[in-house]
Amino acid sequence: MKQFIGAHVSVGKGYEDMVDRAVAMGANTFAFFLRNPRGGSARALNVDDMEKAREKLESHEFGPLVAHAPYTMNPAGSKESVLAFADLAMSEDLDRLEYLPGSYYNFHPGSHVGQGIEKGITLISEYLKRMLDRPLKSTVLLETMAGKGTEVGRSFEELATIIQNVDRDENLGVCLDTCHIHEAGYDLKDIDGVLQEFDEVVGLQYLKAIHLNDSKNPLGARKDRHELIGEGKIGWDSIISVLTHPKLLNLPFVLETPQKTEKGYGDEIAELRKHSVNII
Ligand code: FE
Ligand code: FE
Ligand code: ZN
Repeated sequence: MKQFIGAHVSVGKGYEDMVDRAVAMGANTFAFFLRNPRGGSARALNVDDMEKAREKLESHEFGPLVAHAPYTMNPAGSKESVLAFADLAMSEDLDRLEYLPGSYYNFHPGSHVGQGIEKGITLISEYLKRMLDRPLKSTVLLETMAGKGTEVGRSFEELATIIQNVDRDENLGVCLDTCHIHEAGYDLKDIDGVLQEFDEVVGLQYLKAIHLNDSKNPLGARKDRHELIGEGKIGWDSIISVLTHPKLLNLPFVLETPQKTEKGYGDEIAELRKHSVNII
């Protein structure tokens, strides 16, 4: 079977249409928003459309999808309205994902907005305990962050503390974003070293998905600016060392590079496939 490689796809005309467009770009996984990424309410539920999407994903042997939470969601915020939106958005999104069993739901852990990292970690941990207090067919993933502003989740230690606090292994994992960890200061030239550190601090069994992005900024810049694969400061060789690392081969790899069109993503996926390997 081919490695699971895909990109961010817009929902557009619905779920089945989204799968069709992913297939057209040569993807066998993808990321998508279940609602407007800048906030707003969920799309109207269309069970028939989701069922058709699920069948197509199966027949095309897709790997797990990696749905993305809205950017405006901040469970480490200080305002009541911000916290209430985080609760509502993730609960509704997880309800919706029950129709696509086995999917991942990745979110930016949040920004503590000056309340301090300890408080941020506590808020996010309590939030996840509430969100995961029910049977679920999907797994929630904490995304590794660049450390811009007051972002929580820049270091593997911060993510490990949240995972330990929540203590719900069956439904919680990590999505590693290569642009973000590079800008957080982890040097992907030494992918073995980075993965060893991740294993010691968090545990590789928690690593469920990769956001494969190059970065416009140098190591440790903490700005979070994505770049096309091979055209940034991480560079082609290091990106390929992530894609083909024996410990990561079976994970879904999702591009969030600044492509303007789905055709652009298709070309980028095709280029990566030339260097990807076959998995069982
Ligand atoms: Fe993200
Ligand atoms: Fe990302
Ligand atoms: Zn980013």
